[in-house]
Amino acid sequence: MKNHTRFIPYGKQHIDEDDIASVSGTLRSDWLTQGPKVKEFEQEFAKYVGAQYAVACSNGTAALHLACCALQLSHGDSVVTSPISFVASINCALYCGATPAFCDITPSTISLSPDALESFILTQKTPKIVIPVHYAGIPCDMEKIAYLAKKYAFHVIEDACHAPGASYCDSFNRNIMVGSAYHSDMCVFSFHPVKSLTTGEGGMITTNDSKLYEKLQRFRSHGITKDKDYFLREYFMSEPIGEWYYEQQNLGFNYRITDFQCALGIEQLKKLPYFITRRRKLANLYFLLLNEIGGVSVLTPASSVNSAWHIFPILLDDPKRRKEIFDKLRQQGIGVNVHYIPIHLQPYFQHRFGFTIDSFPHAEDFYRRTITLPLFPDMTEDDIHFIVQALKKCIEE
Ligand SMILES: *Cc1c(COP(=O)(O)O)cnc(C)c1O
Repeated sequence: MKNHTRFIPYGKQHIDEDDIASVSGTLRSDWLTQGPKVKEFEQEFAKYVGAQYAVACSNGTAALHLACCALQLSHGDSVVTSPISFVASINCALYCGATPAFCDITPSTISLSPDALESFILTQKTPKIVIPVHYAGIPCDMEKIAYLAKKYAFHVIEDACHAPGASYCDSFNRNIMVGSAYHSDMCVFSFHPVKSLTTGEGGMITTNDSKLYEKLQRFRSHGITKDKDYFLREYFMSEPIGEWYYEQQNLGFNYRITDFQCALGIEQLKKLPYFITRRRKLANLYFLLLNEIGGVSVLTPASSVNSAWHIFPILLDDPKRRKEIFDKLRQQGIGVNVHYIPIHLQPYFQHRFGFTIDSFPHAEDFYRRTITLPLFPDMTEDDIHFIVQALKKCIEE
């Protein structure tokens, strides 16, 4: 085995001098948290995705939890998501005491199948919330999911952690940005360093509903409001309101994000179009080169969608060779990964909720055959050639 000094991770942030200057500037200012940069980042993000409101918070998991709280999710309710996602996509439901459920995926895009969802509703129950995940940055069939949401009266939170910058064309030929919450109640994003833009840790929720917007802000900060338009005081107090006055109206959390993280987010957002362009270009090169080798296939998004390519998963024809090929690529400094172990097969979900193997055949088949190849904006075309060559050699060995 050759000795490689270089390790290519599966994903990596891009930080430049503008990012550093922006963070330093905020560190020298009067505000470290909940200052002007939080508002500015929220406004710029909302503008970019075309939503009316955005609420920034401490991470993507907190964003999912806040979204569930804003919809008053609680005991007795159930939540459906895709088994092929990060565990956070369903843990948010458990934090609220709700029951987790899964529906199988559509094999071509590895996202929640609307048909599987409808048959779940017809044979089991209507969930309170459905959380479609735009896996790898490929938008789900949101039009179909929104149609079912109306027909069966459930809420929709898009887990868009993979998909800032993605868009799709609806059946009226309108171009819809992921994050606009056009076909959902809310969209959720993460700014972890492997995601398409980063604030270190960070998250965002977008919505067009002013009531949800107000609740998201309240739950982000202990369930407290300082806005007199929302005060409930008349019910229990008669003294005049002083400047000190605030009310805790729910059990919320401290899920705030700092001003210096948002200063980074504002700079990163300016570069997001470039990041996405790079990702698409590199993904296209993968498509081109992988097409010429046997034993492997790629995801095939519909022509109406424009993926943000957060990750680049491939499928091996032979699941029995996955570990061997994975190990060989790692040994050559290629930081392959696997996204994801089906959530329902995690010990916690099997033990606590009784999920079993063979429950979601498409999801489990995908898991057995998939490997995520490296993809991030600072990779070169040579990196892609090197990775595909190494993969080809492994498959042919
Ligand atoms: C990263 C991620 C999350 C969680 O985001 P954090 O910021 O790490 O809490 C949730 N869902 C998906 C699909 C993700 O990729």
